[in-house]
Amino acid sequence: MFEEKNYQFYYNQIILIILLSLLPGLVFVILAWMHQVVGGSLFWYALLLVTSIWGMQLKYRYEAGVMDFDALSQWYGNVKIFYYAIFSLWTLLFILYAAEVESKLHYIVIFTQITSSVVASVLLVRDRKIFIPILLILLLPLSLYFFYIDTLYGYVLSLFNLFFLAILLYASNSTYKLIRMNDYQAKHDMLTGLYNRRYFLTFLENLMKRLGKSKKVAYLLLIDLDYFKTINDSLGHDVGDKVLEAVARRIKNYAKKRYIIARFGGDEFVLLSLERKVDEYSIDDAYAFAQGLLSLLKEPYRIQQHRLYISASIGIKVITATVTSTNEFIKEADIAMYEAKEKGRDGIIVFNEALAKRVQIYHETEQKLYFAFRNRNIVLYYQPLFDKNKRVVGSEALVRWKDNNRYISPEIFIPIAEKTGLIVDIGYYLLEEAFKTLVEWDQEGISIQHFAINISVKQLLVERFAEQIEILCEQYLCEERRNKVYFEVTESVLAEDISRIVTVMEKIKKLGIRFSMDDFGTGYSSLSHLKELPIDQIKIDKSFVSYLSQKDLDHTMVPAILSIAKLFDLSVVAEGVETKEQFDFLIEQGCDFFQGYYFNKAISKDEFLFLYGR
Ligand code: C2E
Ligand code: CA
Ligand code: CA
Repeated sequence: MFEEKNYQFYYNQIILIILLSLLPGLVFVILAWMHQVVGGSLFWYALLLVTSIWGMQLKYRYEAGVMDFDALSQWYGNVKIFYYAIFSLWTLLFILYAAEVESKLHYIVIFTQITSSVVASVLLVRDRKIFIPILLILLLPLSLYFFYIDTLYGYVLSLFNLFFLAILLYASNSTYKLIRMNDYQAKHDMLTGLYNRRYFLTFLENLMKRLGKSKKVAYLLLIDLDYFKTINDSLGHDVGDKVLEAVARRIKNYAKKRYIIARFGGDEFVLLSLERKVDEYSIDDAYAFAQGLLSLLKEPYRIQQHRLYISASIGIKVITATVTSTNEFIKEADIAMYEAKEKGRDGIIVFNEALAKRVQIYHETEQKLYFAFRNRNIVLYYQPLFDKNKRVVGSEALVRWKDNNRYISPEIFIPIAEKTGLIVDIGYYLLEEAFKTLVEWDQEGISIQHFAINISVKQLLVERFAEQIEILCEQYLCEERRNKVYFEVTESVLAEDISRIVTVMEKIKKLGIRFSMDDFGTGYSSLSHLKELPIDQIKIDKSFVSYLSQKDLDHTMVPAILSIAKLFDLSVVAEGVETKEQFDFLIEQGCDFFQGYYFNKAISKDEFLFLYGR
């Protein structure tokens, strides 16, 4: 495609070739003048001057990185003609003076032909279309000349000269191939033959410079295969490599020559469209293009004996003439691609500012959360739990983040903490705090039977989590207290290695702690899974409770959950109880415990003691 390096190379040689022509040319004119045969050479030198001036103009017309594809090809076409012309002039000089035997100037022009051909074969090796014709233009007339001397020594010289031509062609062609191979390796990804990251970034940078002038636009597609790691891990890297090759081939065939395609490493590919005028361009085109590509990539792959199905997540970023850096563009395409992953993979997202804002807030929150945790601005509040006689029987510990004068909701920061892994440390800290509170309340004399703590699935997956709990229990909780503790887990545990989760839960249950299935009915739960998990209690999600106050919504869920619970002999807590009607309905259906704003929200542990202590 773009042979930027070649252009640069021939641009650099222009001045050298001009100097190598003008100076010896001048010496020749002086010699010719001394021998009174200056006429032809003056005319020749004038032509050389004109050609040189044109060459200089070409040199000044070149703008690295800024010229677009068409302008560059046109410029390069002219540069080729310039090189042909300036070397042809030496052949012209040869023709003019080859018969000047008397003044012996014919020796000089024979010599200049030979040196010119060496110069051409050394200095112009980057493009065969340049050096091959020039070598022929310089040396074939010389062989003809020797041939027409019509003596044995003439024939021999003619042959030698042809031989010399062949050697020069061979030598420069070898250098040419070596340079090409080097160029190729520097620019390409060896596995797929697509461009590599480094070349792509330089290309993008140049494109941006061009867009700054031309006010055109282009777009960038970032493609990441879904679950590629699984293929690599389960079928081996051999198969993984074959998949990448096949994917690269499909992308290449689909995008044809209209895109620059690169592999960014791993299973990440990028495509960059050629630049177009703003009014010729629409984001719908880009989207439709991506859709077509996605469905092509999703067709089954046959690799060795395997039949594989692969999808991809694609982020699209429109590139306009702004001052942002290439990295910024890639990052934004990345944000869009990750959003596609978040939305369940196998999809296409076009980058937009709202998305950027969300990601920015996310990152800021992530940073702030880290410091908030270090400064212990993360605390537990406790929401009371009631029985059907409205007596306090327990509490649920709910985390609160105090950020200056406001609270940030755990709905926002818990998912972030889970993604970054910070939840493991935060969770451990909160567990210890909760255990301390339980001890404190016991000593102050609150008779609660039920002390619930939310546990993230990320915590359950921590190596030695059960052992950590055991140590905490030994430190804080006698057996009687342990029996009050319920760990609330959500149905997301079912998405993990279930036997591993069950092992951990069993170990913890041996300590006397029980498990509660939080947000029941909203996630993965199925009856068969419910049976597999060693749980003691179900919490009806607040969404189902809130349905109860709306006439047109489904009321069958709550009775259904309650009958399942009876079937498995589990106690049931309803959360999010806000009205008397909900409360009455739940009692009537046989629910055991109740939690919600109808009674109280989560409050600090001291407030809790004040309100519900003896
Ligand atoms: P969850 O475990 O389902 O907690 C119940 C949420 O409902 C709490 O929100 C609670 O304040 C709220 N709520 C209680 N009564 C009512 C009501 O009558 N109406 C309504 N609309 N809402 C009510 P919160 O405290 O914002 O917690 C949100 C979620 O954050 C929790 O949902 C839980 O999944 C997570 N979370 C909270 N604390 C922790 C924690 O310490 N560790 C972990 N891993 N997750 C936590
Ligand atoms: Ca909960
Ligand atoms: Ca819930």
